[in-house]
Amino acid sequence: MSFPGRWQRPFVDRTRGKTSGEASTIGATGWSPMPGPLAAVLILGFAIILWPLATHGPHIGPEGSAVLSFLHDINLVFHEAGHVLFGPFGRTLTILGGSLMQLLVPLAVAISFLKRRDAAGFAVGGFWFFENFVDLGVYIADARALALPLIHNLGPESHDWHNLLRGWGLLRWDTAIATASNAIGGLGMTWAVVFVVWRYTRYRKDVVPCRMD
Ligand SMILES: [Zn+2]
Repeated sequence: MSFPGRWQRPFVDRTRGKTSGEASTIGATGWSPMPGPLAAVLILGFAIILWPLATHGPHIGPEGSAVLSFLHDINLVFHEAGHVLFGPFGRTLTILGGSLMQLLVPLAVAISFLKRRDAAGFAVGGFWFFENFVDLGVYIADARALALPLIHNLGPESHDWHNLLRGWGLLRWDTAIATASNAIGGLGMTWAVVFVVWRYTRYRKDVVPCRMD
C-alpha cells in the first residue's frame, strides 16, 4: 500500500475544492489549461510575427518580413477560394470575397476553439484572424500605388482594392483605411498575447500543487 507523498504532487482545484492525482484538465471557467511551457511556445510564436511588424512595419515580399510573407502565402489560398465562393453574388462581392474569406476562415477557427473553451486554439485562431487585417492592410495601402505584384502576373486592372475603393469613391483614403486595418490587426494580435498571459496566470491560480504530508 502506498500513500500520497510529496513526490506525487496531487493538485487541488481551489475553486471547486476537488483533489485529484493529476492536474485538472478544465479550470473553473471551463477553459482548457494553459501551463507555462504551452504559454511560452505560444508567446514565442506570436513574438516572431509581431517583432518584425513592430520594428519594420507591415511589409510583405522580398523586402518585407519572411514570416509575414510565409503567412501571406497561406492566407492567399483562402483569399483565392473566396473569389470563387463569392463568385455567384455579383461583381463587388466577387472582388471583396477574397479579402472576406481571409477573415472568415480564421474567425471560424477561433469560434470553434472558443466553443470548446480551448484556450491555446482560441488564441492561435484569434491571432491569425487579426494577422489577416495586417495582410489586407498591405493590399489596401497599395490601391493607388499599384506597386504590389499580383498573382499570375495579372495587371493593375485586377487589383481588388483599387477596384473596390474606386467603385466606392474612397480611393484617396486607401492609406488611411489601411492604417485602420493595420491598427485593428496590431491591437488584436496584442490581445492574443494578453489572453495567453491571462489564461496562464489563471491556470497558476486555479490549479496549484498541494503537498499532502
Ligand atoms: Zn484577390
